[in-house]
Formats: sequence, C-alpha cells, structure tokens
Amino acid sequence: MLFGREDIRRRIEELGRTITGDYEGREPVLISVLKGGTVFLADLIREIPLPLRVDFMSISSYGRAAESMGRVRILKDLDEDIGGQHVIVVEDIVDTGLTLSYLLSVLESRGPASLEVCTLLDRSARRIAPLSLRYVGFDCPDVFVVGYGLDVGGRYRNLPDILAVEDQAAVTADPAALLPFLDPGAGR
Ligand code: 5GP
Repeated sequence: MLFGREDIRRRIEELGRTITGDYEGREPVLISVLKGGTVFLADLIREIPLPLRVDFMSISSYGRAAESMGRVRILKDLDEDIGGQHVIVVEDIVDTGLTLSYLLSVLESRGPASLEVCTLLDRSARRIAPLSLRYVGFDCPDVFVVGYGLDVGGRYRNLPDILAVEDQAAVTADPAALLPFLDPGAGR
C-alpha cells in the first residue's frame, strides 16, 4: 500500500482548505477528466464550501505508451462554456504530463479567467511536458499505481487505498489478483 485511505482523506481536507482560501468570493469550475479523476473530485468538492460547479471531459488515453503522444482526442467535451470562468482541472495523476498539457492548451484557448491544476498524485520523475501544478496531493514514486479512481484494465477504481503494483502484467492477466484489497477492512 502506497497511500492509505486515512492519509488520502487528510490530504484532501488540506487541499480543500487551501483551495477554499484561494478562491474565496469566486465561483470556480472544477473539471474532472474521466474516468480516473472522478473519485478524487467527489471527495475534494465536499471539502470546498464555495458555490462551485463541476464539469467533465473525456479524452482518449495512451496509458503509459508515451510514444503515441499524437493520438490524444476529445471523446466528450465540457457541457458549459468556460470563457471568463475560474477553472481548476482535477486530475488523478500527472505522469508524463502529455495528456494534461494537451488538455490545458485546449482549455486555455477558450479564454478562462484563470486556469489551474489540482492533481492527487504527481509523478514528476517521468515528466516530459513541463507543467506548473498549483495543487498537488502527494509525490508519487515511479511505480504503477491502482485504486482510488486509478484502474488496471478498467478494474479496481473502487479500491479505497492507493496500491503500488509491482507486476502490472500479472494483475492484467489475472483480474482477480487484487480482489482481497476490495475488502472494506483491508487497508486498515
Ligand atoms: P500522462 O499523460 O501524464 O503520462 O498520463 C496521465 C494519465 O495516464 C492519467 O490520468 C492516468 O489515467 C494514466 N496513468 C498514468 N500513470 C498511471 C498509473 O500509475 N496508474 C494508472 N492506473 N493510470 C496511470
């Protein structure tokens, strides 16, 4: 286990307090990138007592294969115009940064009043696209992670803790490998 549910909860409380202070008097729009960022978004917004709104976007993912970097596409766009709005992009993990840097350039072109990033995990060791991340939950080591929204082959987004997966191929080959960790008491 890399980050347990209690550590995650406490860190999100802190992030929420910081964001609330920074955006006081404003009505930020929090944008989540489907699907991994949704669990984090759901917990984060409940720590921000401001009149905020949420919106969702889905972009094609190349996973860890950064060589296919030209292939990022918008699969689902935002419902609302973000022109003149204070936008915070909420991400599960920023790895190479290629996905996010593409997304930010698209959002920037729509004329928001401000545009910041809040990511739960920052794996800066693998960064290719230089990015400034205003809010970071945890620095993440260079190991594949799963849980709390992050999947392996579409599964295990519902793990309450974040696990480091040493043998990603083994978990992909055996979808039941992490089932014991879904037990509600597993990480306690
Ligand atoms: P980037 O474009 O920064 O390389 O990758 C960003 C996306 O790749 C993340 O939003 C996430 O969906 C996926 N990703 C990157 N690293 C991991 C990881 O360790 N575990 C999982 N489950 N997804 C990851």
